[in-house]
Amino acid sequence: MKAFKLAALSTLVLSGILTTSVHAAQTNSGENDARELPKNVVMVIADGMGPVYPVLYRNFKDDPETNIVETTVFDRLLVGSSATYPHKSSGYVTDSAASATALATGVKTYNGAIGVDINKEPLLTVLEYAKIKGMRTGLVSTSHIVHATPASYIAKNESRRNYDEIADDFYDNRAEGKLVADVIIGGGVKYFKRSDRDLVKQFQGAGYQYIDSFNGLKTLKPGSQTNVIGLLADVALPPLLDSEIETPLMKMSKSAIKQLENDDKGFLLVIEASQVDWAGHSNDIAYAMGEMDDLAAAMTFLEAYSRESKDTLVVLTADHNTGGVSIGSKGEYKWDGSWLENMKNSPQTIATRIHEEDLQQDGIEELLGFELSRSEYSQLSKASDAKESYVALKQLLDAKTFTGWTTGGHTGVDVPVYATGPGAKKFIGYQDNTDIGKEIFHLLNRQD
Ligand SMILES: [Zn+2]
Repeated sequence: MKAFKLAALSTLVLSGILTTSVHAAQTNSGENDARELPKNVVMVIADGMGPVYPVLYRNFKDDPETNIVETTVFDRLLVGSSATYPHKSSGYVTDSAASATALATGVKTYNGAIGVDINKEPLLTVLEYAKIKGMRTGLVSTSHIVHATPASYIAKNESRRNYDEIADDFYDNRAEGKLVADVIIGGGVKYFKRSDRDLVKQFQGAGYQYIDSFNGLKTLKPGSQTNVIGLLADVALPPLLDSEIETPLMKMSKSAIKQLENDDKGFLLVIEASQVDWAGHSNDIAYAMGEMDDLAAAMTFLEAYSRESKDTLVVLTADHNTGGVSIGSKGEYKWDGSWLENMKNSPQTIATRIHEEDLQQDGIEELLGFELSRSEYSQLSKASDAKESYVALKQLLDAKTFTGWTTGGHTGVDVPVYATGPGAKKFIGYQDNTDIGKEIFHLLNRQD
């Protein structure tokens, strides 16, 4: 991708964005405005988390002893909804790249585009703009950090698949000469330490502390404002159900904030809960609830952080819906998440272990956390390899929980928007995904 001048670009793009009033009807006047301006902004994107996932999660966490379904952190923070469609040339159903680019830049683009418009011209992102404004900046993800969603905030590429070029942009793309992200935490060592280039060395040369494990997070001194590149897995982090870490997303988010906070100019942190999407693509309800658990822990931490710091806006949305999941299936008016409560691993890992460890009924029951009927066991043991076992296991869990799926891909439904802290009101009601990007530009622009 050709080099471009970000400073010139920023003036151009912002003159367009900032003269358009977003959510004009909800803008508070004068005095209120000042009070409503956040110093810090945390943008959380739950990849693939369409509107049904938070409801599934509420049911999953429901206390069966009471007559109500208890609300969750998501219900507490809900403010609105967002359309997700990409540039019309790509139709009504977006991919993560186009939607993340819309959230990051306020501009719609084609499916597959990373930080570029339909003419493949680079767009200014809120992360770059925050850096130009002198703020501290960070990116956190549970997938490889070069994956479409985090990449759209920092890289410019015509295709989300060019992972090596995207990794190069993490270092080469500058905001007025400065590296764009001060803190980078996620997976993806293999894209940064390559035979043709060692980006980790280059980041270290630029003063970044490199860590390669969750233990490494503990070596970071709180409040030290160290710049960090943390690549905690070769590619993506494991699903929560297979993780040795209890709440990885929450821990990474907390560590990132500790390195970014206490700066006069504030910080912008972008966090991606990546694998709700992958669970949706796999039509795997157990995997999905695990990832929602991690996201709920991260949001509970961020909600408390926003309340205590008083000057931090937290926004959560999804880039699109994945899997077309339903609560109830095959004509039954039922859903039962209790079967998912005691699983020792993700269904994928359990399927692999069934074959690698030649597990019998009691061994499988131990991993699933429930007893199998004779016919259920015979269904599972008929599978000739891990792939077939995984399919059989997902069918079993769907049948027991009454979960339905309509696709292995994305769907074009609107997604929920959650917000808390100063500026949260700006996200009330219906909006477009580009409005969220534009609103963050506005909030950063007015702050000084
Ligand atoms: Zn997806």
